[in-house]
Amino acid sequence: MKAANAILSSYGTTVFEVMSRLAIEHGSINLGQGFPDDNGPDDVRGIAEQALEAGPNQYPPMMGIPELRQAVAAHNARFYGLDVDWQREVLVTSGATEALAACLFGLIEPGDEVVLIEPLYDCYLPIVRRAGGVPKLVRVEPPDWRLSRAALEDAFTERTKLLLLNSPMNPAAKVFDRDELAMLAALLDAHDAYAVCDEVYEHLVFDGRGHVPLMTLPGMRDRCVRIGSAGKTFSLTGWKVGYVTAAPDLLQPIAKCHQFLVFTTPPNLQKAVAFGLAKDDAYFEGFTADMQAKRDRFGAGLAEIGFDVLDCQGTYFITADFRPLGFNGDDEDFCRHITTEAKVTAVPMSAFYQADPPRHFARFAFCKQPAVLDDALGRLARHFDR
Ligand code: PMP
Ligand code: GLN
Repeated sequence: MKAANAILSSYGTTVFEVMSRLAIEHGSINLGQGFPDDNGPDDVRGIAEQALEAGPNQYPPMMGIPELRQAVAAHNARFYGLDVDWQREVLVTSGATEALAACLFGLIEPGDEVVLIEPLYDCYLPIVRRAGGVPKLVRVEPPDWRLSRAALEDAFTERTKLLLLNSPMNPAAKVFDRDELAMLAALLDAHDAYAVCDEVYEHLVFDGRGHVPLMTLPGMRDRCVRIGSAGKTFSLTGWKVGYVTAAPDLLQPIAKCHQFLVFTTPPNLQKAVAFGLAKDDAYFEGFTADMQAKRDRFGAGLAEIGFDVLDCQGTYFITADFRPLGFNGDDEDFCRHITTEAKVTAVPMSAFYQADPPRHFARFAFCKQPAVLDDALGRLARHFDR
């Protein structure tokens, strides 16, 4: 038989799926793949339920139902002061994953260079490479994961088509600050490049920092594509509803890709997400505060056990160095070991690197009920005899 596509065939099954299967097999508490263990807001689910019964249940408009596109535009105005034309600047996608694929396939020409910050979310490199892009990786290092101007200047060239930026950043839990964003903006301007901004954790920014979309910086409105996800913002990761905001000229090629990838997203879920985005400030504030409390609880517990816990400024994730526990092995060994022996699952940080990764960090998802987090901490403490 003739070979399938070489780039995609070169990748294994994603680490999230692998670790979730292992967690099920061993009956362990799954703090690997990032998903909350509640059922999302009752009122949002209620709207979906009604819409499923009442219909329509046929293909909605390709760009998304008007209600949701209007809600995305209103959300952009309410939280970031962005003036968005819902008819020409908003596209609804089947999750942020599809949005990323539509953006990268829609914008990249074979041979274009794409600047990415490493560690990076696992679907970025395969999609960029399949689109014919040439990845230029800029690494950030713990503990503060700060962007280096020199490394960025090296990565940007006249062939740079776009920057793929994830802030808050999975897995580093880093929120790029205004200085770092301004540095990126200057480089994008100087090289006439775009930015695809994966902002799925926009409402998971802690300690009062507030999320700053790169799109809001001077000169960036028409250079940036902003991606959000209802999965993250409403703890409904299985719904796979995402939204893209971009200037019309940028959005058009992205929509062209979307129409051939999935064409549309379930209309009932779109209706419920439109309702969700219009929820009052108390919802969004409560969501952030609740997740921050979980971070504090779980981070303190890991530190007490003896992990060296890195700062977490945002996202669902906290990264911990397990060397102080005296474990003999790398991060993959460690994550397998705690899954099978302590019955707690985490994800090895090395999965987020193309090459030469650090091998002593585990990423834990803390988006779980407090009792579940306490149970996981108890299991780890007993296992490591702390
Ligand atoms: N980007 C990042 C950084 C993520 O962590 C995730 C994880 N879910 C996604 C994109 C995908 O989001 P969705 O589930 O909406 O496709
Ligand atoms: N974004 C989630 C994580 O980082 C996983 C999503 C997925 O499994 N594709 O854990």
